Amino acid sequence: MEILVCVKQVPDTAEVKIDPVKHTVIRAGVPNIFNPFDQNALEAALQLKDNQGAKVTLLSMGPPQAKDVLREGLAMGADEAYLLTDRKVGGSDTLATGYCIAQAIKKVTELKGIEKFDIILCGKQAIDGDTAQVGPQIACELGIPQITYAADLKVEGDTVTVKQQNEEGYIVTEAKFPVLITAVKELNEPRFPTIRGTMKAKRREIPELSADDVKADESKIGLSGSPTKVRKIFTPPQRTQGLVIPVEDDNYQAAVDTLMEKLTEQKII
Ligand SMILES: Cc1cc2nc3c(=O)[nH]c(=O)nc-3n(C[C@H](O)[C@H](O)[C@H](O)COP(=O)(O)OP(=O)(O)OC[C@H]3O[C@@H](n4cnc5c(N)ncnc54)[C@H](O)[C@@H]3O)c2cc1C
Repeated sequence: MEILVCVKQVPDTAEVKIDPVKHTVIRAGVPNIFNPFDQNALEAALQLKDNQGAKVTLLSMGPPQAKDVLREGLAMGADEAYLLTDRKVGGSDTLATGYCIAQAIKKVTELKGIEKFDIILCGKQAIDGDTAQVGPQIACELGIPQITYAADLKVEGDTVTVKQQNEEGYIVTEAKFPVLITAVKELNEPRFPTIRGTMKAKRREIPELSADDVKADESKIGLSGSPTKVRKIFTPPQRTQGLVIPVEDDNYQAAVDTLMEKLTEQKII
């Protein structure tokens, strides 16, 4: 079984602060991390490696420093890693990103001399862009089925059974290889890289692919190939001071009534 996991390096959004004077995002000193949902995707692949002998390949698109997350993934137990890195792909929106990654998957398939990847795993979403579009876009580009929001997955022969999470509960969905699956947190608890794995991963050569290597059509990539453009980025307005409703003389009912009145007034309920 050949599995490919798409991993993205993202700024740790929990560490991003907003400058109260300039109203801009302070990114200085914010560490880059392995997108958390992609760790769940990788863990699912590694469990299939442990239990069913799958081969696990990692792919990322980003600047050269994105190799750090690929090394982390190798240290966790992935077998191989590739980086698509090229100024020409910078500024790509989700459509262009999905296209570039799909092209890179085709190239990696060729380089590995395999017929296809049986399972392609992505995170549900990246915590910086937050769109949750790229996984499904890759599946469309490759013309393969997709199962999103996987909270559990099992593989038997060439069939994957996935418990999909949605707002109301779960749906159990089945698909034959090849299939693209996106992972949610509930899927598993990602393992830590081992010290031995980290030492070995440091010495690994990670092949770099350019836009030309993956035969990306220049009219479909980067800023010019992106149908959407970010026109403006701004910080949300500061939240106004909260309101404390005191309970006087143990009269909880009066406090609840006041709270309900305020919520109704603000059209929250
Ligand atoms: C300079 C710059 C300019 C941009 N301009 C625009 C713009 O004009 N319009 C616009 O819409 N967006 C723009 N973007 C944002 C860009 O669209 C997103 O970063 C990108 O499309 C990925 O979307 P996402 O982060 O929401 O990923 P999601 O769709 O939330 O990611 C889902 C999953 O897909 C996989 N994945 C996503 N990205 C990668 C990757 N790079 N490598 C490997 N796997 C990945 C991961 O498994 C991830 O968990 C810009 C970004 C940059 C850096």
